[in-house]
Amino acid sequence: MGEGTMQNEINLRRTKEIAPQGLLIDGNWRPAKSGATLDVLSPLDGTRLTTIADAGREDVDLACASARTAFEAGKWSRAAPAQRKKVLLKLAELIERDALDLAVLGVRDNGTEIAMALKAEPMSAATTFRYYAELIDKVYGEIAPTQGDVLALVHRQAIGVVAAIVPWNFPLMIGAWKIAPALAAGNSVVLKPAETASLTLLRLAELALEAGVPPGVFNVVTGKGPITGEALALSMDVDVMAFTGSGGVGRKLLEYSARSNLKRTYLELGGKSPNVVFADAPDLDKAAKVAAYGIFRNSGQVCIAGSRLLVEASIAEEFAAKVARIAEGMKLGDPLDLATEAGAINSEAQLQRSLGFAERATAQGAELLTGGARIFDDTGGWFMAPTVLSKVRADMEVARHEVFGPVLAVIPFSDEAEAVRLANDTEFGLASAVWTSNLSRAHRMVQALRAGVVHVNTYGGSDMTVPLGGVKQSGNGHDKSPHALDKFFDLKTAWIQL
Ligand code: NAD
Repeated sequence: MGEGTMQNEINLRRTKEIAPQGLLIDGNWRPAKSGATLDVLSPLDGTRLTTIADAGREDVDLACASARTAFEAGKWSRAAPAQRKKVLLKLAELIERDALDLAVLGVRDNGTEIAMALKAEPMSAATTFRYYAELIDKVYGEIAPTQGDVLALVHRQAIGVVAAIVPWNFPLMIGAWKIAPALAAGNSVVLKPAETASLTLLRLAELALEAGVPPGVFNVVTGKGPITGEALALSMDVDVMAFTGSGGVGRKLLEYSARSNLKRTYLELGGKSPNVVFADAPDLDKAAKVAAYGIFRNSGQVCIAGSRLLVEASIAEEFAAKVARIAEGMKLGDPLDLATEAGAINSEAQLQRSLGFAERATAQGAELLTGGARIFDDTGGWFMAPTVLSKVRADMEVARHEVFGPVLAVIPFSDEAEAVRLANDTEFGLASAVWTSNLSRAHRMVQALRAGVVHVNTYGGSDMTVPLGGVKQSGNGHDKSPHALDKFFDLKTAWIQL
């Protein structure tokens, strides 16, 4: 499809009415028992798009019980992996069939620019389902090298009920990273989307039913984090919690696990990722462009956003100015315009939070090179100009806390040792990057930086084949790659005396 036709197709879907949404429990769509609903507001103009059901504890308990019953019944959990593969491949196909609908729906719900949403949401979700579908009938058990009169078999078994709680950014992609390997392994799933980005995941659930995922195997409960999410995390019926979101909620989930059934809890949390630029970077213009896009796409609402730009002091001022100029040249605005490079902020609260960080940073002595303000107020939507703060000190709030908005902190360093010290001076450890032409230095930095991924002379490269996970307070466990399956399998030994 050419760009003009594609834009027309997007425009046709821009104001399409969205019916009130229910909960998916045991293959049936139904309202919350209490009848409660939540308004879904569009970040594009602040108007009400529709409502989602506001699930209470009794709804969550029903969803978990249905997941458990389906698991015990075995129609999915004990199906041949090749059978699950067939259904999940069909689901991938259906996601591709409806990719444009899904992408537009998601943008209206969460504000991501459509060009990015198209790639990062439905297409990436389809890739994920296809990847785990293709993988699952190639997973073998083991025979342990015991003494000769014993046969010890190590089986990989589905664990049971997996709860997935996901954030508002890239809900389809991140949702698929949990749901696809969990289902492929034979588990049942109860999903709780973020209250400000539920719509595409509800549509995904419809497609899962259409693909042939049996009733009860995939359930969706929407609602507020502290009510619906808490009930799910406290459920005695949930065996595994797979979470992506903030560190604050991650901490609570560990607590809920301890207070309930010690469910295994996997956390993909936030970051304050350092992007380290040495003066000998192979191409400083490219580095500046990638640094700008590495923080400002999706208005900074990206877990691996390079939000700390560490620059060798000899070029710091010039480089920061270059990044600011690139930021000013980005095409901002209507998230449903294919040319837009940074769309809206997901909620008004998140917009105000991001503005607050910029304001306090300048009050603490950072220099505002560009941005720092709300833009396009007349639309009624939630937009913020890409913000570059230079002369940031490592002890400032904006250098230490995750903003999760379009705010970049530029921090100068004097030499490699200081670059490493500053880069690692954070409670987080999700992503990082180093720009240098010095091969030895690149390898030293890869070893020295404490992060789940170190990019070299690029930022943000990724693929289904590589794991994504953090160290330190960025979490535990991994999404993507064959490693993600480990979270959703139990190892069971059969010890057979011959
Ligand atoms: P959040 O932690 O506020 O919410 C995430 C989910 O948790 C939502 O579904 C929410 O409803 C739910 N929740 C909130 N309170 C809860 C509670 N008490 N009990 C159970 N569930 C609860 O995160 P967010 O603001 O939606 O997303 C932004 C955060 O996610 C950022 O910190 C970002 O870095 C992180 N993130 C990390 C990754 C990664 O792969 N590491 C990817 C994307 C986003």
